[in-house]
Amino acid sequence: MLRQRVADAIAYREVVVRNTNAYRVIFGEADFLPGLIVDRYNDILSIQILTQAMDAEAVRVALASELTERLHPASIVERVDPRVRQLEDLPPHPSGLVQGEKTSAIFTMNGIQFHFEALEGQKTGAFLDQRENYAAAAQYAHGDALDVFCYQGGFALHLAQRCAGVTGVDSSRPALEVADQNAALNRRDRSQPEIEWIEANAFDLLKDYSASGQRYDTIVLDPPAFAKTKRDLDAALRGYKELNLRALKMLHNGGILVTCSCSYHVSQADFLEMLAGAARDAHRTLRLVEVRGQAKDHPILLNVPETAYFKCVIAVVSQ
Ligand code: SAH
Repeated sequence: MLRQRVADAIAYREVVVRNTNAYRVIFGEADFLPGLIVDRYNDILSIQILTQAMDAEAVRVALASELTERLHPASIVERVDPRVRQLEDLPPHPSGLVQGEKTSAIFTMNGIQFHFEALEGQKTGAFLDQRENYAAAAQYAHGDALDVFCYQGGFALHLAQRCAGVTGVDSSRPALEVADQNAALNRRDRSQPEIEWIEANAFDLLKDYSASGQRYDTIVLDPPAFAKTKRDLDAALRGYKELNLRALKMLHNGGILVTCSCSYHVSQADFLEMLAGAARDAHRTLRLVEVRGQAKDHPILLNVPETAYFKCVIAVVSQ
């Protein structure tokens, strides 16, 4: 049963995943394997086990064997969040190699290369759910671009292929250090702009920049989940609105806004309503170019609403 579900999950990716050697191989409940996440970064598999059922030794052995047989990874690494194990009444378990020895790799998404360290970083490497949104954003991006909450440069590196100047902003210095290494991996040609990385609180920076009259042609907003629980919804919507309002004020006419939310508790309707409110307050008009979700390797089950969590709106701004 477990082996069949793993095989089915892998077969589904063969149908929907293109232009990448990094993607989510198993997305818990959406692949009928609740409590199990498996991500692939080139030849390294990174697994997360989140429930008692998946933690059983027999399950672990069957999982590693099925993954190895079908994907031939150089290594398998387990990432552990001690808080989750505690919540699920699971005994402590270290993060580390399950099989093989390789812990770092370079992976490629949409032709762009990224460094992967299996045993470092705040997540299992990258935000794989954004992969298709990076490519979509790059289609419309132009001029001077600002990537707010840039992490290791996912959007910024894609924008650099199309834009005259790119600035990435994040509050995490380690994330920006990796972002800079990723930029060096991809800047083979001097016609591409050198990306400027700024370590700052995004709220403060947007406030200062909008007050000082700084303007952009493309702005990406990809904040962390503001609504971790339903109770946080109102505060989260206020946070999203503040960011979007400031970004809208800073965009030239014809500018592109790419605005995201990964909070499951903020529905697509809530998010669009927030954005409409921000546009009204900023006295700008928005044309929706694309209303998007998570990449297809994070499947949405129609009857399991929790599996649809991501919003990414691409819009053109006018007066
Ligand atoms: N756009 C990224 C993912 C962003 S994840 C990508 O595609 O890879 C959210 C990021 O927001 C994290 O890197 C985190 O360090 C950063 N962050 C959280 N709070 C912040 C704040 N107040 N100001 C700036 N960055 C912040």
